[in-house]
Amino acid sequence: MKFSAVPADGSRFAAAWSDLAGVGRDRVRGGYSRHGFDDADLELRTWFTEQAQRRGLEVERDRNGNLWAWWGAPGTDAVVTGSHLDSVPGGGAFDGPLGVVSALLAVDELRLRGLTPAKPLAIACFVEEEGGRFGLPCMGSRLMTGAADPDTVRRLHDQDDVSVADAARRAGLDPAGMGPDPARLASIGTFVELHVEQGRLLQNADAAAVIGIGSEILAHGRWRLTVTGQGNHAGTTRPADRMDPMLPAAAAVFAARQEMGRHLGAVATVGRINPIPGGTNVIASAVQLWLDVRHESAHVTAGIVDAIVAAVRQEATAEGCTVMVQRESMTDRVTFDAGLGLQLSELLAAPVIPTGAGHDAGVLAAHVPSAMVFVRNPSGVSHAPEEHAELTDCLVGVEALADVLESLVR
Ligand SMILES: [Zn+2]
Repeated sequence: MKFSAVPADGSRFAAAWSDLAGVGRDRVRGGYSRHGFDDADLELRTWFTEQAQRRGLEVERDRNGNLWAWWGAPGTDAVVTGSHLDSVPGGGAFDGPLGVVSALLAVDELRLRGLTPAKPLAIACFVEEEGGRFGLPCMGSRLMTGAADPDTVRRLHDQDDVSVADAARRAGLDPAGMGPDPARLASIGTFVELHVEQGRLLQNADAAAVIGIGSEILAHGRWRLTVTGQGNHAGTTRPADRMDPMLPAAAAVFAARQEMGRHLGAVATVGRINPIPGGTNVIASAVQLWLDVRHESAHVTAGIVDAIVAAVRQEATAEGCTVMVQRESMTDRVTFDAGLGLQLSELLAAPVIPTGAGHDAGVLAAHVPSAMVFVRNPSGVSHAPEEHAELTDCLVGVEALADVLESLVR
């Protein structure tokens, strides 16, 4: 790997990182719970705005709540970098914020290099990338690109029955304005998202590599299954009299694991399950569970979901329960711009790797040449508190992003 300048200032990175360290900590789950338009998210957005303004960047909020910090006047053929500030429930510190902090420090680095961008340059923070609060991942970028229907999005609710519209209003955003933003989209010439690596693919591709370039994102989707039975007393209800929705729910967990074994490269997960009412001495009356399935082929992904649902229905029939299936999101396989990926891979002497994780860059890739720069994660863990990147690697990431932006804004 080669870099054009001295390493970025570690103390500035550490200072920015410590600003964020206390925001949105989850005392119950560990790690962080920062979700679209919640208190932690609003605090982070304020922090970002102040940091950008301190650097002389012009900050604006678009109609969907995404933040944009401009170096130079907004205009066409803009080079945009950035990521998201929200997390999954109990997530790690790096997924999202690393891309935002690195973008701010890359601007500092470019200023140190004496660069005057020939094109508009912006840092974007997209709303609710994880879908941790309202269930729809990449909400901000999907709304902007027209990939999500604003009427449907406004009506999505969180676990406390707060709608997206109400949450947006509380954040000072007019929900009526949410929706496609074609002019903004058309102004973007290139989008580059720096992100912590979320698995072991970079280590497997090159054990010494600190940086990787994204080639593609697997097709991925989320489905909500509601299994309804009969709530009853755990002590007095004989086996023959039970209609226990936990059994079909359990079938989903096992079928997901089984389907992974049947399809090379597929992943299927039940990571969230909600028995109602959720009492130790109560047979549940209903169970909600969420299924996450990913594979390079959308067709195979759909087949895996069908097989899992069939297993759940079979168990439900035996138990006298009913099943309702609702697709919450589905994203087809995304291939990043091959020319741009090759250009960045050569510039940084970095290997090219695919990813199973969804990103705003994947949503934008359908409209503008997009790329991803991954920073090594020695833990191989993400969406959990153990997610990690070493400071020295983060600084290499800042340098790499600065090199990329410098090459693109000329
Ligand atoms: Zn992310």
